[in-house]
Amino acid sequence: MRRLLLKNFVHGPLTEAAPAPDAAAIAELASRVNRAARRRLGRTLAIREVDAGSCNGCELEIHALGNVLYDLERFGLRFVASPRHADVLLVTGPVTQNMREALERTYQATPDPKWVVAVGACARDGGVFAGSQACVGGGVSAVVPVDLHIPGCPPPPLELLKGLLALLDSVSADAGRAPMKTRRDEP
Ligand code: SF4
Repeated sequence: MRRLLLKNFVHGPLTEAAPAPDAAAIAELASRVNRAARRRLGRTLAIREVDAGSCNGCELEIHALGNVLYDLERFGLRFVASPRHADVLLVTGPVTQNMREALERTYQATPDPKWVVAVGACARDGGVFAGSQACVGGGVSAVVPVDLHIPGCPPPPLELLKGLLALLDSVSADAGRAPMKTRRDEP
């Protein structure tokens, strides 16, 4: 035991150091997202996250946006507890059979104007869970209209911010809904 303690003391932890966030890039992007939200909505952006059966990898990156390193609330971006207070639904996971109705009801409960962002490979087409009998099949767009897909497995915080900015820029340029709607079962 003493040898083990001594070895740990000498060599230190074996885990890799966390990558340092690019603070300047994050601050720049978050400010632009906030300005775009105020231009488009007249207020800050409210985001509701929906886990539709993910492995939690995407959630870890989304949660990172609110941690002490990124602290996006200082730029006005807020994660809200209810879809009734949300502008954007960030949806992760392949949409399991069990989460289908919950996702539909969450979408219905979100007031207009609203946008759906599918986060990660699974949300796009099922990803590593594609073909599973536990999943609806076809990703988020098979259940609710998707305005934007942010690729990655999982996408890091910087990519999430870029995606939100692209979404707001697209709807700012267009008076109506975002032009990236991809619901498959619509006429
Ligand atoms: S995209 Fe990757 S990290 Fe995100 S839920 Fe799917 S497997 Fe997990």
